[in-house]
Amino acid sequence: MRCVGPLVVSGVSAVSAVSAVSAVSVGFAASVVSALGCSGAKVAPKLPATAAASLTTVAERSGYVRTGRYDEAIALCDQLAEIDGVFCDRIGTTGEDRKIIAVRIAKHPNLPVIYIQAGIHAGEIEGKDAGFAFLRDLLVGKVAPGALDHVSVVFVPVLNPDGHERFGPNHRPNQRGPEEMGFRTNGARQNVNRDFMKADTAEAHAVLGVMRTHDPVLLIDLHTTDGAKFEQDISLNFAPSAPRADQLEETAVSFHDRVMPRMTALGHLPVDFYPAFIDDENPMSGFETGEAPPRFSQIYAATRGRLGLLVETHSWRTFKQRAESTYHTLQAVFEAAITDAATWRSVANDVSRTDAKLGGSKLTLMWKLTKQSVEIAFRGYAFEKRTSELTGGTWLVYDETKPEIWKVPLFKDLEPAITVDVPRGGFVIDGGFAKAVAPILARHGIQYRPIAPRSLALETFRVTKVTFQPPYEGRTRPTIAGAWIAETRTLDHGAIFIPIDQPLARLILHLLDPALPDALVNWGMFNAAFEQKEYMEPYVAEEEARKLLAKDPSLRAQFDAAVAADPELARPEGKLKWFYQRHPAWDERVNLLPVFRVGDSLHL
Ligand SMILES: [Zn+2]
Repeated sequence: MRCVGPLVVSGVSAVSAVSAVSAVSVGFAASVVSALGCSGAKVAPKLPATAAASLTTVAERSGYVRTGRYDEAIALCDQLAEIDGVFCDRIGTTGEDRKIIAVRIAKHPNLPVIYIQAGIHAGEIEGKDAGFAFLRDLLVGKVAPGALDHVSVVFVPVLNPDGHERFGPNHRPNQRGPEEMGFRTNGARQNVNRDFMKADTAEAHAVLGVMRTHDPVLLIDLHTTDGAKFEQDISLNFAPSAPRADQLEETAVSFHDRVMPRMTALGHLPVDFYPAFIDDENPMSGFETGEAPPRFSQIYAATRGRLGLLVETHSWRTFKQRAESTYHTLQAVFEAAITDAATWRSVANDVSRTDAKLGGSKLTLMWKLTKQSVEIAFRGYAFEKRTSELTGGTWLVYDETKPEIWKVPLFKDLEPAITVDVPRGGFVIDGGFAKAVAPILARHGIQYRPIAPRSLALETFRVTKVTFQPPYEGRTRPTIAGAWIAETRTLDHGAIFIPIDQPLARLILHLLDPALPDALVNWGMFNAAFEQKEYMEPYVAEEEARKLLAKDPSLRAQFDAAVAADPELARPEGKLKWFYQRHPAWDERVNLLPVFRVGDSLHL
């Protein structure tokens, strides 16, 4: 009903909504007033879809010189929600207390949902303006007519409002317009498009909420590139691209084969890979396209068993051109949806069923490029490499008046990089760590249940070597080596069991198997496991070492061999630690991951 629409859910007062709206469209303003019925007065009927025709954006009215501030996005969301079957949902609240809003169009119940997000990198903002223009035209039937009888839509115009409102002219020096724009990260300097797995940010929480609530069959993420100068105007990256046993990858290929030619027909020069040179300084080095880890939005969607599409307009195109190429991408997608959305949903449902049966298998979850390449004809510009009298280095100078065809290699053949053993039962998080992990699982929609303390045959992962990388996204990431080994352990109070026989099994593996780059351990979540917490004073260790040798004379030969083999043992403290690690006082939990694999499902 109406009260789940703009005025209640978005939390904007009717007065401020009306004043913001009136600058855009008088017709909408009257209807917003009528919606005061949500607080008890008379509720006016919602407007027909044709009412959307009067919507315009600051971008359009300025001839794509400017983009509006976040207030405009809220006002447009509220306006659209005056239309029958359109809602403005509040899906989150940012660190700076701004609401994250989504336009939701659901003309019929239970249709497959296409989820579109813009402004995750808030300086790359044409997705917001193109998205509003597209939804308007979609509602009035001007573009992809009939699509709304086949799909519903959730559109987040600005996923990162705090970044959006860090507004200024200088955030994107490699980009042509708008006059002023937002900033890449959120207010806490987090890049939200690295946060889909660890889910630290309010913005990622909002998206995961949409995933849980609406289970979209397709996620579209709207961006602008950085990088070199060339003619190709848009990059469309379809996910998944790596081989899978189910039909999802083939479905992504069919989707690609619908959208790419349509974009060409609509007057664009699309490429289906991210156009960053392998060697930044050498355009002739060509390009490569693999499959990133699921911290990125479109791969995250694929890991959930749904389609993903990363849209990257070329930053050196004007704001208007970029908005047009984004609009046309949405057009091509929704045209395809008319015929294909039902298939997207049935494939997604199949994937959910088959992913719930992965237990006991070997599964490749990360891929790497082979040395095989194909030559492509890429539409670049003439360029020269000049010596810089300023730096002594070299720099590339492009001539945008001289288009050139570059014959360059594209590396896209994949081979397995990381294959994991999927446990038959699932994973256990031990008691002390479970309370921190459980909310992350819940945000993703992963099922888990508590286990009472008990002795259990399981596999542990003991880390044999750990080093730390520089900070990344606010985390200190370890690089670890180690192996799974069979043990029987007694679990601590508060432990949880995550059964693997559920639709999000791939997500569980990516979060919990330490071999995978986005595993929680690799985001530094269990770093305390790598710290020694109790100590043996050296004078005590000297005595205890002698006692150990007296008790077990064979230890001497082992010790001598270890000293000969390990340079760490050259130091006296290294030698004492060697004995300490063999003493009953040694804390066996140092370097023990609190994530265990279990072979059987636990029914408790
Ligand atoms: Zn971006």
